[in-house]
Amino acid sequence: MLNMPILPIVTYNDPILLQIAESVVELTSELDDFIEDLFETMEGADGVGLAAPQVGRSVRIFVMNADLMYDEEDEKANLLGNMVFINPEIVEYSKEKVSYQEGCLSLPGLLDEVNRPDRIRIRFKDESFQDQELELDGWNARVVQHELDHLDGILFIDRISAFKRTLHRGSLQKIDEGSVSASYPLADKKS
Ligand SMILES: [Zn+2]
Repeated sequence: MLNMPILPIVTYNDPILLQIAESVVELTSELDDFIEDLFETMEGADGVGLAAPQVGRSVRIFVMNADLMYDEEDEKANLLGNMVFINPEIVEYSKEKVSYQEGCLSLPGLLDEVNRPDRIRIRFKDESFQDQELELDGWNARVVQHELDHLDGILFIDRISAFKRTLHRGSLQKIDEGSVSASYPLADKKS
């Protein structure tokens, strides 16, 4: 098996995490390899989702495998395995919202509850650059919304109240300064 690299994760407050990522116009073999690296990096970091800007590349691609979030007993679990979403666009949101705790590989050690629509309909291109449309709920819908936010320069802490955000100020500053560690490689802080 080829040894694919685990890419270092870019953390808060790197400018690339605040940008609107560029659409993919053509799926080149170089991008194919990059997507493989994304999967490898996500797995290496025990993540359930990873967006391209989180490894320093501002393109509209993210990968996900939310299966781990589901209970084995959960009959409603919709296990999708490894999924890649290219140029994703959420075209419908449910009115019902649910609140769950989220974390982010770009915000090591930080967790908080985020309120998001429970169900979504998403259009995207798959690993063969074919158009797909899916209706997702539960963890799949949550991870997709979290990852798609990364392509629009939004972090989950932008979706919590200003009051709750102030409670994280110390942790955010530590991440910004690069004085946090994680079980996966973090990108060097640009000074
Ligand atoms: Zn994230």
